[in-house]
Amino acid sequence: MSEQEDLSSDRLKHHFAQRVIHQARQVLEVWQRLQEREWNDTELAEANLRLLRYAERFGQDEHAQLARSIGQCLEASGANKGRLNSALITELNQLMQRLSRTGLRHGDQYEQTFLPPLRKPVYVGLQDRERAERLAQQLEFFGLSAQSFATANAFRAAMRERHPAAILMEVDFAGIGKGLELANEVQQDLEQKLPLLFYSEEETDTPTRLAAVRAGGQEFFTGSLDASTLLERIEVLTHVSQYEPFRVLIIDDSRAQATHTERVLNSAGIITQTLTDPIKTMSVLAEFQPDLIILDMYMPECSGTELAQVIRHNDRYVSVPIIYLSAEDDLDKQLDAMSEGGDDFLTKPIKPRHLIATVRNRAERARNLKSRMVRDSLTGLYNHTHILQLLDDTRTRARRDNLPVTFAMLDIDHFKKVNDVYGHPMGDRVIKSLALFLKQRLRKTDHIGRYGGEEFAVVLPNTDAATAAKVLDGIRQRFAEIHYPASPQDLSCTFSCGIAQLLDDVDSNELSKRADQALYVAKHGGRNRVDIFES
Ligand code: GH3
Ligand code: MG
Ligand code: MG
Repeated sequence: MSEQEDLSSDRLKHHFAQRVIHQARQVLEVWQRLQEREWNDTELAEANLRLLRYAERFGQDEHAQLARSIGQCLEASGANKGRLNSALITELNQLMQRLSRTGLRHGDQYEQTFLPPLRKPVYVGLQDRERAERLAQQLEFFGLSAQSFATANAFRAAMRERHPAAILMEVDFAGIGKGLELANEVQQDLEQKLPLLFYSEEETDTPTRLAAVRAGGQEFFTGSLDASTLLERIEVLTHVSQYEPFRVLIIDDSRAQATHTERVLNSAGIITQTLTDPIKTMSVLAEFQPDLIILDMYMPECSGTELAQVIRHNDRYVSVPIIYLSAEDDLDKQLDAMSEGGDDFLTKPIKPRHLIATVRNRAERARNLKSRMVRDSLTGLYNHTHILQLLDDTRTRARRDNLPVTFAMLDIDHFKKVNDVYGHPMGDRVIKSLALFLKQRLRKTDHIGRYGGEEFAVVLPNTDAATAAKVLDGIRQRFAEIHYPASPQDLSCTFSCGIAQLLDDVDSNELSKRADQALYVAKHGGRNRVDIFES
């Protein structure tokens, strides 16, 4: 084959791979839509079949495999009189999550390389090539690959070869206003526009900004450009929103009534679990972690209102909505029940649509509220209280499954100096960028929290201390290489880290103490290092 043919066959392959990815997105979209409105599996089955055909034809094995599994789930629901159940919803959701990450996201196991493989690159076109290279390198420290270009033609060639995750283009790349034209040109015949970010060193006039908007620019940076701000925007622009099905716990002594409620909710893509013995409520709550509870008013062991109070006594479940479902139509009694920790009262028989809508609305609002309660506002990471709760949960699960858990504490070195020399806003920026760095570099299954000011905590399930130390040491090295543009000279920071693995006789409190001790050792051993706890 001639070089020419080789090249065009490559391009063709790339084109077809894009089609598979596009179809995968369709499937995800239908899945998401179905969960928000009414369930209709035909549309999903059709989109999935198309995905399977494309993936097989164009040799995309991973996609084909997933499409086959999704098909099997849909067949199973067909065999079940077209009904979904919690197991099928859970399985489908897992498959969809994998589909959304296929070819894009790093896996959920730490491989031998201990740093996740990189994703699609970011293309960088800046007037100053050296600067572009520096920026590209900084992005790589964050776990993103980036490629810079010397000329417009080099950029065009790369675009023909492979589409990037995003494009950063200086307005005047390759000539005054030429960057704008170039970005416009390469996006012209794309079915799906790529995230496009413009940059200009100088503040610009309105016509330039207008031209940028018209060229499809979703962001316009001016002044000094730093990798973490850029990355933050890219993350937002390339984020595939991930829908997590709602989880509803039904507490009802009548199995028949509960089954009916489960069916209605499952048909709307909601995961359910039934508990007929209210005495087990607290342990089931801890294990199942519902978004909402549906409670029967009258049960033999205790009344619904009594149980609601018991649930509310636990701080963790203060904000989980409780809906009473009962034949009680005495309004006074209903009001009494509501004053005892309930949020809503539905009377049987209830229309399925009404039940689904009530559950969705309540659960959605509770989720929003919860995410504000458990997250730190500067970094979006979990706050101190919540990361400790997650440590507790992880510990319980790890014990049961006999898997290792490791807890790590990080503290930025000489941070007071950063504030003193560069100012508090710069300090905030460093904190934010370390948060982002950890999010990029750790697995999706790891929990990351802001423990306090410039301190962070990480829970690493299914990981022993030695592996965790390797991973965090890799992160430490790369974090130290980040430069924050500043005068009189750029700033770079380091952190120290202490690690402790969960052992049989240790509770969460003791575990975090141990990590703290290891951190202390790291600090006193000269900082910018990772230490494992030794008794
Ligand atoms: P060490 O290497 O021993 O950790 O030294 P350090 O200076 O980092 O430690 P120290 O605990 O003495 O100082 C932490 C500083 O972090 C003090 C505080 O002003 C600052 N800080 C805490 N929270 C924030 C924040 O949210 N933003 C900013 N900019 N600074 C913060
Ligand atoms: Mg500190
Ligand atoms: Mg510190």
